[in-house]
Amino acid sequence: MSQFANYIDGQWVDGASVSRNVNPSNLDDVIGEFAQADAEQTHRAISAARKAFAQWSLSTPQQRFDVLDQAGSAILARKAELGKVLAREEGKTLPEAIGEVGRAGQIFKFFAGEALRVGGEVMPSVRPGMTVEMTREPVGVVGLITPWNFPIAIPAWKIAPALAYGNTVVIKPADLVPGSTWELVKIIAEAGAPAGVINLVMGRGSVVGEALVSSPDVDAISFTGSVSTGRAIGAKCFDSGKKFQLEMGGKNPMVVLDDADLNVAIEACINGAFYSTGQRCTASSRLIVTAGIYDRFIDGMKARMRALKVGDALADGTHIGPVVDDKQLAQDERYLAIARDEGGTVFGGERVEGSTRGYFLAPALVTETTPAMRINREEVFGPVASVIKVKDYQEALAVANGTEFGLSAGICTTSLKYASHFRRHVQAGMVMVNTATAGVDYHVPFGGRKGSSYGPREQGAYAREFYTSVKTAYINPGAV
Ligand code: NAD
Repeated sequence: MSQFANYIDGQWVDGASVSRNVNPSNLDDVIGEFAQADAEQTHRAISAARKAFAQWSLSTPQQRFDVLDQAGSAILARKAELGKVLAREEGKTLPEAIGEVGRAGQIFKFFAGEALRVGGEVMPSVRPGMTVEMTREPVGVVGLITPWNFPIAIPAWKIAPALAYGNTVVIKPADLVPGSTWELVKIIAEAGAPAGVINLVMGRGSVVGEALVSSPDVDAISFTGSVSTGRAIGAKCFDSGKKFQLEMGGKNPMVVLDDADLNVAIEACINGAFYSTGQRCTASSRLIVTAGIYDRFIDGMKARMRALKVGDALADGTHIGPVVDDKQLAQDERYLAIARDEGGTVFGGERVEGSTRGYFLAPALVTETTPAMRINREEVFGPVASVIKVKDYQEALAVANGTEFGLSAGICTTSLKYASHFRRHVQAGMVMVNTATAGVDYHVPFGGRKGSSYGPREQGAYAREFYTSVKTAYINPGAV
């Protein structure tokens, strides 16, 4: 069986134990045995990052550009092969997985350029003869903790800016999907990152993640994952004086108004709710539909859902791959049962037999729901969407804003008036008009409001807010 080691201080090293990475489309297919670090090994990785920071933080923009640019080229050149690793370990379909790898490559290319664009500002002082300069410096050693649902894109959108702005990294990928991050770290090492600049410690959140969060030698933590884990990590970072950034869950609304183009609305909802098996923080999980289009919308959704092929992520023609593991499958089914108990009607949502043993679940649409039901308040994170019928736009907006989350929100309408009003008044970090709530560009900020996010935005040039620290210098030339 293939073995995959941790990467610490420029060396591949065995962990304290190993964990098997299993294909959710085929439980008889084991991708390999992946090293599991303990706290001691995590501390070694942090020390290596600390040591490497002294030089990397002073490296030239050209050096950082070269490493990131070369890594980006390697990722793009190996898109098909890496996409297969990703689809095999996470279960999104091969085209989706190849797309995600391509995204990771583009992110590295973008941040290669950003390394060259770390500018500053000069202003005249309010005091005579003095000038003021504002410059950016790297934050230090950053710990990156990532979830399982984007096994290469999320590590990429944290590692690339961290390195571009001169930080050193210790990354802990999600326990379920270490393979894609392992490949990514190997590519970065081969692209010339000096020893200690990038370190990979695979293993459990309660061991490796905990060691990163509690270490006084880690200056900042960037976390993406669930609300409960994120809040606990945030509290610990605050207590130990670390900078931190949390990207967490969503309960994203997609509003469909009477005047929507029905086909556009149905495609946006099918994509947003069910593609990537609904396992996206930006998934459209609440479909808020006005009365005049409701019946036609539901009929159209059901017809499209019947045509979706659920099955092996690597097979041709699969639209929806498996659920990631048995725990997530149990959670999806538990929420469908809760929805039924609370008075909802479930279309779909049954288990699907594949040619292999896998966690296959048909997409589910829950109708006859009210905003107060748990299916409309809590994140399911599966191929499950609920529908809330409303009388008009005003009610739709109030329902859209009526949860603790605020990541992404969408509206399908042909009315400029409602689209403009929604864009301004919906409480979300990202707004989509006539397109799915999931699916974003890599060169612009990503993140949410309310319970979904905490701290500066990720991605695009905004990433520098987290990965750099601003210094204000007052210079009195007369005294120099
Ligand atoms: P999770 O919170 O269970 O785990 C996320 C990461 O935290 C994993 O690497 C895990 O090992 C680690 N972890 C767990 N306990 C820890 C601890 N005590 N200390 C430190 N680290 C610990 O989340 P998940 O199940 O992997 O991912 C699904 C969640 O991620 C969903 O809620 C989804 O909405 C969210 N998500 C959010 C975004 C976003 O950008 N907002 C993007 C993708 C996923």
